[in-house]
Amino acid sequence: MNKYEPILLKNMMQPGYTGSLADYERAGGYQALRKALGKIAPADIIEVVKKSGLRGRGGAGFPTGVKWSFIPKDHRGPRYLICNADESEPGTFKDRQLMERDPHQMIEGMILAAYAISTLIAYIYIRGEFVLGAKILENALAEAYRAGYLGPNILGSGFALDIYMHRGAGAYICGEETALLESMEGKRGLPRTKPPFPATHGLFHQPTVVNNVETLANVPHIVNRGPEWFASIGHPPKSTGTRIFCLSGHVKRPGNYEVPMGITFREMIYEIAGGMRGDKPLKAFIPGGASAAFLTPEHLDVKMDFDSLAQAGSMLGSGGVTVMEEGTCMVWAAENLLQFFNHESCGKCTPCREGSLWLLQILRRIEHGHGRQEDLDLLLRLCGNIAGRTVCAFGDAEIAPITSTLQHFRDEYEAHIRGQRCPFRPQPVADLITVGH
Ligand code: SF4
Repeated sequence: MNKYEPILLKNMMQPGYTGSLADYERAGGYQALRKALGKIAPADIIEVVKKSGLRGRGGAGFPTGVKWSFIPKDHRGPRYLICNADESEPGTFKDRQLMERDPHQMIEGMILAAYAISTLIAYIYIRGEFVLGAKILENALAEAYRAGYLGPNILGSGFALDIYMHRGAGAYICGEETALLESMEGKRGLPRTKPPFPATHGLFHQPTVVNNVETLANVPHIVNRGPEWFASIGHPPKSTGTRIFCLSGHVKRPGNYEVPMGITFREMIYEIAGGMRGDKPLKAFIPGGASAAFLTPEHLDVKMDFDSLAQAGSMLGSGGVTVMEEGTCMVWAAENLLQFFNHESCGKCTPCREGSLWLLQILRRIEHGHGRQEDLDLLLRLCGNIAGRTVCAFGDAEIAPITSTLQHFRDEYEAHIRGQRCPFRPQPVADLITVGH
């Protein structure tokens, strides 16, 4: 593939870069802030971000500038910006690296976003398990206050902003923006029914923008180098810029890789990540975190962008690419993911709360040699009764591993049922089952 220039990981790839304020400034940090505050009108910053084509990097991919423009201009009272740093999607670990290795990039993005929507208060909602990230961010915020990038009258522009940290308690669902708002208000993190949307009724029912870490980290670069530059990278017009993909599973070089959107999975897996571990054949991959449908080797030439993945029946999601080699049991893989979803279902709505347990029980009995032929139709019927019938997108996410593995690997499910055992395990384990039959 062609050479490309990383944007977000560039600083931390330099030898000796620590992520301190001094390092960040030496690398050109906070220049976008100097360029924008008091010199470019907030509404024009929103236009710049709109023109760049930047879309949310957390999962849903909503256009960032458009989201900002939904904040009512004539609102009297507080409005809020929240950086969603609750990265919890299995197979996704990029926001953590951005926070730990180059925290000021995200903070500068937050200040620019706050200026654009004219808020005086912003929060970082950080996953509770990110203890190191929280400490690093706290230090970075203190540095930014001392340098006059936060607080009253930032850089003499008259604009004031305070950023507070809020540590989550470890629930996956709090990455969903309305559950995150509930959690920040001190309540149990349950998603809200929408509408109304956070842009008008967000934190404490005030207008609120919630943006992901990677999304915000892109903003200083867009302001610095211009929207046309950003829009020329990737796969315009709908998938502009770079994307950090988290490669995990059976590849030779797992890790975070920042690439222009629109390269193929073949390039990513075989060139960038060094190919399959032990040069075994590829069996399947999840292209965008645990909520994305499985794909197979026939999808290796699908482009890693929003539209191409939607056409292939999956999604770009959170950017977590999990690669599985021949010999991996797909029923086990689906069961493994359902364990996660069943554990993390918040319980607010019945199809998700009850359905995830039923799905898990059926998968377990198939995997452990107690499956029945009619179980496959039962799985699909249950999935059909969850799809589109839940309060939040979690319901659609939890069925994706099942519907996609049944679509691509139905013969494997049937082999489990016919043989009354998992064909990928050396010994039958049917007698280990304790639930679901
Ligand atoms: Fe909670 Fe699941 Fe319903 Fe979402 S779909 S509100 S996670 S029970």
